Amino acid sequence: VPELKINELRASVEGKEILKGVNLTVRGGEVHAIMGPNGTGKSTLASSLMGHPKYEVTSGTVSLDGEDLLEMSVDERARNGLFLAMQYPSEIAGVSNANFMRMALNAKRGEGNEIPVLKFHRELQNKMKSLSIDTAFAERYLNEGFSGGEKKRNEILQMSVLEPRIAILDEIDSGLDIDALRIVADGVNALRGPAFGLLIITHYQRLLQYIVPDHVHVMMQGRIVRSGTRELAEELEARGYDWLKDELGIED
Ligand code: ADP
Ligand code: MG
Ligand code: MG
Repeated sequence: VPELKINELRASVEGKEILKGVNLTVRGGEVHAIMGPNGTGKSTLASSLMGHPKYEVTSGTVSLDGEDLLEMSVDERARNGLFLAMQYPSEIAGVSNANFMRMALNAKRGEGNEIPVLKFHRELQNKMKSLSIDTAFAERYLNEGFSGGEKKRNEILQMSVLEPRIAILDEIDSGLDIDALRIVADGVNALRGPAFGLLIITHYQRLLQYIVPDHVHVMMQGRIVRSGTRELAEELEARGYDWLKDELGIED
């Protein structure tokens, strides 16, 4: 079973500490949601796990299936089964979407185990159909001129093609209308199972009505300050965050 284990993680951006000791374990079969007010470090957590050079991990540990994630290059993280939507470049001139995904998949499968081209295209077509993505999309250059909604759907397509062990989705709901949100959620839910663990980051509870989490965590000021079930998300939707700040004695 896949396992991403974050222990007392601290990280800084431009010399300022943003993550102040994050603890979280995501295992295969589980969907965890992180919610929280704006500017509390949710995206910083995603970027730090991705290995973004701007985010400096200053202490703590992260392991993926028992191996030190922080020692891995961004490529190695992907090859070891970690998926982050933002991991993949927003635009690569002259590379089609389909070819890009085939290269990424083959890099993950390893030399000598490349997927046959025809098989890849057949599976890609099926996945595109299930995500209601126009098949012409495959031959377009990666992300060039994609609308906001197309980019989000494409991220989910990339994820279903790569079949990661652990995925982190940061605000995949932003800018999506309700129909697009349903399609994206269906795509994510299709991957759910014991071989797949998911961490979704969202500001709003709406997404969690479609991708129902097993665990909900609230991040404030760079830490997870409360964990619960989906009822916690509903409570935050109904009551906002201030009551929790009051309860915890957090001032902003
Ligand atoms: P959230 O995703 O919870 O809204 P972020 O992780 O984006 O919060 O931001 C947390 C804090 O870190 C904010 O104060 C933000 O200004 C700062 N920060 C995040 N990324 C950068 C960056 N690339 N450069 C400078 N400051 C950043
Ligand atoms: Mg934000
Ligand atoms: Mg964010």
